[in-house]
Amino acid sequence: MSATAAERKPPWRTMRITLSTDAPKAAAVDLLAIGVRSKKFDKDEELTRLDKALGGVLADWFKEEGFSAKPNQTLKVPARGRVKAKWVLLVGVGRKATEVEATRMIAHHAAKASARQKSAAIVLPEISPATVRVASEALHQGGYRYKQYKTGSRKPKGGLSRAALLVDDNKDKSLRKAVKDGTAIGECVNLARDLVNGPPNDMNPLLLADIAKEEAEKLGLEVTIWDKKRIEKEGMNLFLAVNRGSAVEPRFIHIAYKPEKSHQKVCFVGKGLTFDAGGLCLKPPKSMINMKCDMAGGATTIGLVLAAARLKLPVEVHAIVGSTENMTGAEAYRPGDVFTSLNGKTVEIINTDAEGRLVLADCLAWAVENVKPDLLVDHATLTGACMVALGNYRAALYTDDDDAAQGYQTASELADEKLWRMPLDTDLRKTLDSFVADVKHTGSSYGGSITAALFLKEFVGKTNWVHLDIAGPAFLDSSHGRLPKGGTGFGVSTAVRFLEYLALDTVGDDDDEDESATSEG
Ligand SMILES: [Zn+2]
Repeated sequence: MSATAAERKPPWRTMRITLSTDAPKAAAVDLLAIGVRSKKFDKDEELTRLDKALGGVLADWFKEEGFSAKPNQTLKVPARGRVKAKWVLLVGVGRKATEVEATRMIAHHAAKASARQKSAAIVLPEISPATVRVASEALHQGGYRYKQYKTGSRKPKGGLSRAALLVDDNKDKSLRKAVKDGTAIGECVNLARDLVNGPPNDMNPLLLADIAKEEAEKLGLEVTIWDKKRIEKEGMNLFLAVNRGSAVEPRFIHIAYKPEKSHQKVCFVGKGLTFDAGGLCLKPPKSMINMKCDMAGGATTIGLVLAAARLKLPVEVHAIVGSTENMTGAEAYRPGDVFTSLNGKTVEIINTDAEGRLVLADCLAWAVENVKPDLLVDHATLTGACMVALGNYRAALYTDDDDAAQGYQTASELADEKLWRMPLDTDLRKTLDSFVADVKHTGSSYGGSITAALFLKEFVGKTNWVHLDIAGPAFLDSSHGRLPKGGTGFGVSTAVRFLEYLALDTVGDDDDEDESATSEG
């Protein structure tokens, strides 16, 4: 029995964001949020005005509460009728943050601090499409809560349902577009989070495909969903090998966003293991508990194509997700088995828990042959070795394409997500040599994240390719910074900025180019 998409549809659309010309002290909301660069705020006009309205209490509050305005420090105080808002949230942003970074902090904390508040107003440190966009995005992300499976009084209440960004002209077209775009990114990040947080008995390949289809069709995108039979017909034997031990069918999901104006074609591929028991090389219980998160790369891939479409980015974007469980049924694939991949290479199975690269290998090879993209990008919770190397807040980036690496690094900084470029050391390639087949599917455990990347490289041919191992930041046991506990949607925001960076390169001479896409500092 499997829940339908409608029954288990994640409620990621929860907040309405508007532009308001209210002065801060006149905003009739539950919570008014404002940034503070330094506890000496006499040069800050907005804070000085607010302080006056509050009766000149700010300096005392700062002192009493030890508030020094360092980044992400917050002070929430009841306004007691001195301004229209019920609460005032002072958010430390420090002296060094850019206006965009400061805005992101303020909006994030406004949403986060509003467990009991329903409405908020945000004082922007600077009014521009870039700050309005990032505020909209950060409000959605900061207000994220996964509560779908809680019932009755156990369901968390509250959380912001509306937020106003205080501006001088609420009819300004570029600001209105920025709200729309920021909302699109924030909602798509939250969608990816919901997909990851969905329990694996419901969020299996069938439901994942259903939701992907439903969301893509809402935006008028092309969607192709293939069942097991159709995947067999394609010859994706590595993908199918992983599925052998599962009672649930696999799904191949392909969403295409094809704008009228586009000079580049990027194909994203996501690992969609809705549950990874490890197969016959079974994981110990402690390592298995969070393995619903092994489809996070797929969730990110679905989220980012929907975001690209909602932002109408001038880049053709394909999203492919290979989705299956990795279980231990009687037909389960074995260490020592040999399968022929889609691109004809024979692969010797070593450790059945290294299943993600098998699914990806066939999906990448399929994309190379059928989509023929200018650039391939995959997202996968691929290796524990990656977390050993980089910790759990940073993803690894692998590529031979220096331009793409640079673009991705810049994009990740703009998105406030952490990446590190790792080497595709060909020295380690020989550890993938097999005695019986063309290639083994796992190599040396030293540099295990690198050898996984080298295995994938066997399937991309000459196509420019970026591999993102997001095993660390895709899912967290406890929240960290702006990343929530559980599914984080890591990679969606960065991918959007990366596509914008590509669009700058290719359509920079267009007259009607969207300025909000380029003004993020
Ligand atoms: Zn595994």
